[in-house]
Amino acid sequence: MMGPRICERESEIVRLARLPGEPPADLAAHLARCPDCREAFDVARYMIRLAADTDAVAATRQLPEPAQLWWKARLLQRWNAESRATAPLDWMQRVEVVGGVAAVIILLLMFWTDLRGGGSKSSAFATQFWPTVAGLLAPGALSSFIVGGLLLVGCLSLFTLRQLLVED
Ligand SMILES: [Zn+2]
Repeated sequence: MMGPRICERESEIVRLARLPGEPPADLAAHLARCPDCREAFDVARYMIRLAADTDAVAATRQLPEPAQLWWKARLLQRWNAESRATAPLDWMQRVEVVGGVAAVIILLLMFWTDLRGGGSKSSAFATQFWPTVAGLLAPGALSSFIVGGLLLVGCLSLFTLRQLLVED
């Protein structure tokens, strides 16, 4: 299209494009001169061919029931709405899992530094394991609160992870 100016023969051209076969001589001459009409003619011919092809395909195939299509569309619409509504929850679940992993790492680091704190290198693990656990969990010790909190976060994230796996 070349701007808002419309050729006065355009509607005639589109009407004639519906007729099959080659366009009449005077029309062909105008089409050769006028790019607007040529474009309109090509588009009209294309649309007519597309409509004919669609009809041909529809005639050879079993098309789905309209009610079935409508039902499917409604179902998809509902799923979309649901996933939009639960998107923040999904995000929170990921945060929980990441938090849980971080808690476990912190817990292990705390445990490891306490374990390394006393005793020799070789037999440290065997001799210091249970005393270290007992020290971390000793009532009244600050670490017992931290360990308790971290364990809680870890358990929560495990639960969330299990739920995520079940959902998928
Ligand atoms: Zn024209």
